[in-house]
Amino acid sequence: MGSFACPHYDTAKDGCLRLKTDCVPGRRGCVLRGKSVFAFSAEERVREREKEKTKPSGRR
Ligand code: SF4
Repeated sequence: MGSFACPHYDTAKDGCLRLKTDCVPGRRGCVLRGKSVFAFSAEERVREREKEKTKPSGRR
């Protein structure tokens, strides 16, 4: 997921070990929150992720 290095990122699961959910840099509780500037707000990206999960399963 882009060019960042986070010690809490689990590459195997593509998720956050710290928050035990999807890695969305800058999201609430993220160690990068406030340290980086993102094109879209973290909350917006969290919403996008959640939306994707609720879609009927199928193509990726
Ligand atoms: S959400 Fe933040 S703390 Fe968690 S793995 Fe991603 S960058 Fe690291």
